Amino acid sequence: MPELPEVEIARRNLVRWFKGHRVVESEADDTRVFRGARWKDFNALRGRLLSLERRGKYLLFTFEADRGLLAHLGMTGRFVRRPPGETVLYSRARFHLGSGEVIHFADARLLGRMEPCSASGLSELAPVKALGRDPLVDGLSPTELQEAVGDSRQALKVALMDQGRIAGLGNIHAAEALYRARLHPARAPGSLTPAEWKRLATAVHAALEFGLEEQRGEEPRYLKEGAHNGFLIYGRAGEACARCGTTVESLSQGGRTTHFCPACQPSHPDGKTRR
Ligand SMILES: [Zn+2]
Repeated sequence: MPELPEVEIARRNLVRWFKGHRVVESEADDTRVFRGARWKDFNALRGRLLSLERRGKYLLFTFEADRGLLAHLGMTGRFVRRPPGETVLYSRARFHLGSGEVIHFADARLLGRMEPCSASGLSELAPVKALGRDPLVDGLSPTELQEAVGDSRQALKVALMDQGRIAGLGNIHAAEALYRARLHPARAPGSLTPAEWKRLATAVHAALEFGLEEQRGEEPRYLKEGAHNGFLIYGRAGEACARCGTTVESLSQGGRTTHFCPACQPSHPDGKTRR
């Protein structure tokens, strides 16, 4: 599932693809990625792309004439650029550029989301307003991280993945950040010391930067079974921790599996592991 780095790479690719080109025609199919939004309004997205912002896992497109589009990749959504006439499997919506190239939104499982709207109204849409701080767009200092997450009564990893608190962190990068910060995923956010908040803020940035490096390229690469796993802890249950050699364990939190090192990520601030 795409997380902040994948969506940020998609944004950078799209900015590059649209640059210097006008959209001469847009067309969408009537599928459930539009979720009750007026899918035919997609066809009104024309002319130049004036800006493309990312907030959390959402992309906010601003075209000429106050035309806007909110997009979310969901589980399997992706944008791809193709020469004219080339078909794309599961293409759901298309931007035809003046150059003849076509930018497709392809989505096999239709769990992505597209909402055409006025560009000036983008930031007022409910899913956008509900988002918390975006670590890359808004910055995230140790104090800001503590303010965003510290009062949560949920486990630390679950709180980090709450899009209303921190926008963009998902299962992979929350696990990576906690491993880097040497914090147990089930810690109570209220129990973190100032030094631990500092470590965690640094680790969130490091995990996202690493994710951006991993995902760089024209085509999105999501972690698949058997694929190269460049992550430090994610997907490594049963393997030896790269830092200390202890066997990496897994636990289930909020319906998601998380991986952690029981030695490097003790469940209490004093370093004593109670298991
Ligand atoms: Zn370890």
